[in-house]
Amino acid sequence: MDFKEFNLHPKVQAGVETVGYLTPTPIQMQAIPTVMAGQDVLGLAQTGTGKTAAFGLPMLHRLVDGERGRLRGLVLAPTRELAEQINESLSALAQQTRLKSITVYGGVNINTQIKRLKEGADIVVACPGRLLDHISQGTIDLSKVEVLVLDEADQMFDMGFLPDVRKILRALPNKRQNLMFSATMPDDIRVLAHEILHRPKTIQV
Ligand code: AMP
Repeated sequence: MDFKEFNLHPKVQAGVETVGYLTPTPIQMQAIPTVMAGQDVLGLAQTGTGKTAAFGLPMLHRLVDGERGRLRGLVLAPTRELAEQINESLSALAQQTRLKSITVYGGVNINTQIKRLKEGADIVVACPGRLLDHISQGTIDLSKVEVLVLDEADQMFDMGFLPDVRKILRALPNKRQNLMFSATMPDDIRVLAHEILHRPKTIQV
């Protein structure tokens, strides 16, 4: 199978070609059409399966023709390293789209982050703690978020981020598409998935 068969926006397809992906991975084959159709997804997948592009490509496809510089895609990740990795992959895939993705996490100067947020980003890849700081200080506008991704939800839970995630959810618009990925599916994650996702399609690889 070829990526062209998904009928991604030409600018997003151009990103796939720049990055050099030839054949979609199993999770991409299942997730990309589902996300493009607007459905929520619960993806059971480990790192290394290509899950970043599985949510990233249809998210870019959805956002590419909208208003620029408004935060419309939010990705939550448990660690800075993962946030950086996701942001790098998304930025590479978004090369031809002019959509801008930035990271928000703790341990770095908050004023620099505030400045970058003010300059306008379409996608923010964030760790929950620092994102909450921005929410409580009023330095991030989440009112236009239409796609939410929770990556490595089980790790997020293990690291004690669940209360933060719940607070973040309350700051988001109700009408949005939700994508949740986890390597394992313990009961707590199942409960969270049930809370967050609306009639999700479960994808397992
Ligand atoms: P991920 O699971 O998203 O962390 O991706 C793991 C690695 O696979 C990353 O280095 C990606 O750039 C790469 N990758 C993702 N999708 C594809 C694909 N369809 N073809 C080749 N490499 C890919």
